Amino acid sequence: MSEIKKYTCVVCPKGCSLVVEKANGEIKVTGQKCPRGEVYGKTEMTDPRRVITSTVAVAGGKEPVTSVKTTQGVPKGQIFDVMSTINSVKLKSPCKRGDIIIKNINGTGADLVVTRSC
Ligand code: SF4
Repeated sequence: MSEIKKYTCVVCPKGCSLVVEKANGEIKVTGQKCPRGEVYGKTEMTDPRRVITSTVAVAGGKEPVTSVKTTQGVPKGQIFDVMSTINSVKLKSPCKRGDIIIKNINGTGADLVVTRSC
């Protein structure tokens, strides 16, 4: 028995339409214009992840919030928990772009980093 899913590759702006077929324990990807699409399609089928971008509160800075993101995708099933953690963060100014706020956030393997100095 096989499972077929369609995805749009979001790794680059070309947005290739992928067809991913899982059969007999093997996953075959078609429609990609480069090898990154194959990796993306296989990951979407087996362990979909998303990079999270958000904002956190800052005390003592020019702006009341600054922007943050995860350094890599987190499992889709954990996005709600990761967002709860991000929403509980309160930074103190100063902070600079690239500062790690939380290492291995919620055990996902991704770090939460500042993307705008504050
Ligand atoms: S398959 Fe390659 S070329 Fe196509 S959208 Fe993905 S990264 Fe871009």
